[in-house]
Amino acid sequence: MNIQTIKGFKDILPDEIPKWDFVEQLLRKLFKSYHYKEIKLPILEETTLFARSIGTGTDIVEKEMYTFDDRDGKKITLRPEGTAPVVRSLIEHNLMAATPLAKLFYIGPMFRRERPQKGRYRQFYQAGAEAIGPSGPLQDVEMILFLSQFFKEMRISNLTLEMNSVGCPQCRPNYKALLQEFLKDKQTGLCENCQRRTLINPMRVLDCKNESCQKMLHNAPEMVHFLCGECHDHFEEVKSGLGVLHTVYRINPRLVRGLDYYTRTAFEWKSDFQGAQNTIAAGGRYDGLVKELGGPDVPGIGFAMGIERVIALMDPSLTPEIELPLFIAALGKTAQEAALLILAELRENHIGAEMDFQNASLKSQMKKADRYNARYVLIIGEDELKSGKATLRQMKTKEQEELPLQTIGETLLEKLRPPI
Ligand code: ATP
Ligand code: MG
Repeated sequence: MNIQTIKGFKDILPDEIPKWDFVEQLLRKLFKSYHYKEIKLPILEETTLFARSIGTGTDIVEKEMYTFDDRDGKKITLRPEGTAPVVRSLIEHNLMAATPLAKLFYIGPMFRRERPQKGRYRQFYQAGAEAIGPSGPLQDVEMILFLSQFFKEMRISNLTLEMNSVGCPQCRPNYKALLQEFLKDKQTGLCENCQRRTLINPMRVLDCKNESCQKMLHNAPEMVHFLCGECHDHFEEVKSGLGVLHTVYRINPRLVRGLDYYTRTAFEWKSDFQGAQNTIAAGGRYDGLVKELGGPDVPGIGFAMGIERVIALMDPSLTPEIELPLFIAALGKTAQEAALLILAELRENHIGAEMDFQNASLKSQMKKADRYNARYVLIIGEDELKSGKATLRQMKTKEQEELPLQTIGETLLEKLRPPI
């Protein structure tokens, strides 16, 4: 039987790569102007890192993690998210001592064993950013602004920014108790998961994707009304900052994050499309996480964005079809050697060029050039060699011209060099 990819995993084929390149290049450019530096971290971490940070009552830790025993018996996990590894690294290398505010970004694969659907995979890619260290509410605004600019430059409209505050360890327990009380007599209307969540993590009921559970939440108490003074002021300042930038948002009192470490600001960018897979990017503040993982008591905020979901929504005109600038059709051994020299000169100048090493007929080489979507074809045959000229054919217009072989390199470079 043929071997195929594992369920929920997928190949990203060459035709899709221009989109991925575009997204990554834009991200890198924007991150640079927002003064974020890249960090590359391992894909495997000790299981404890995620269990301790994400929280044991969460979907990710309960059922989505790829966890294995290493050969020495140690439990290791394919990373399901990027924030905990970033924080682990900052602590391990004492990076917070070296910078007043660590502003970092990552781009790479994450792994969660969930039910595969369109826009939901078991290996997927995230781009994320973290700002860790003393900051203020406008740091939250900066993160949101980054995404807002990114989506604008990707020409993705139809996105809604949703905001909420999930409070802090001072005000949340009180709210959780109220919510638990509210949910007590609604258990029969809730899904099995939410019945369990009511006991261990009642706020997770709020963002259950089950419609029947959502119906039970009518008139449920809302965290925003139970924030402590400091959380309230923080949220007001975030909203005011967004107002200054004319950023449109919607308060969603049901918005919570699926990970336990979040505090205060939570936000999500959602699209109109894709049904249950409509969250494109999500983030929030995690003021207790660094201390929880053994570092100093500093606040942090971050977001993660699903790259597959961005690519599904991006404007295709941003990545026009790839074109091969030049194909050389050379006929006969001597012509092929001449072509090889021209090819080398073009490639030394970083111009894309290709030829056929099969020494096939002119017809079959022209076919190849077509398949490669070549802009020009240079034809060098025995006759051309004798007369010291080659034929350059523009594939779209079918126009042809004779070019002297002696200066062919320079002539082609002039024609093919991309405009500066
Ligand atoms: P969802 O509600 O869709 O399950 P989540 O709350 O689990 O998302 P986060 O942990 O906040 O997602 O991850 C941030 C982003 O990463 C999501 O908004 C989404 O774009 C992307 N993402 C998360 N899980 C997957 C997945 N299994 N496949 C593809 N993209 C994903
Ligand atoms: Mg999820």
